[in-house]
Amino acid sequence: MLNESFVCWNCGKEILPHPEGSARNHCPFCLYSKHVDDNSPGDRLSTCYGMMIPVWIDHKKNKGDMILHACQKCGKEILNKVAPDDDFLGFIRQRNKHMWDAF
Ligand SMILES: [Zn+2]
Ligand SMILES: [Zn+2]
Repeated sequence: MLNESFVCWNCGKEILPHPEGSARNHCPFCLYSKHVDDNSPGDRLSTCYGMMIPVWIDHKKNKGDMILHACQKCGKEILNKVAPDDDFLGFIRQRNKHMWDAF
């Protein structure tokens, strides 16, 4: 897996390499991802390339905070590790906003 800068395909912001040298698979600003992995994170075997939306957050004892991404195109769900500079609060704020909007 590559640790490189890229431009987000959802919000258009420029994303810098992961601060701890781990590979980035989602945007730290909007937390969107792209469906490129098939069976395991980083295998890049999927040919779907659908947009993956952050739908839920989870906490795993051994892995820490995780984001559950769901593919808009094929519906596949993948758990991804949160990067230290992810806009996690922004995501939760947005979720709450949507919840309030629903009422
Ligand atoms: Zn983005
Ligand atoms: Zn997909």
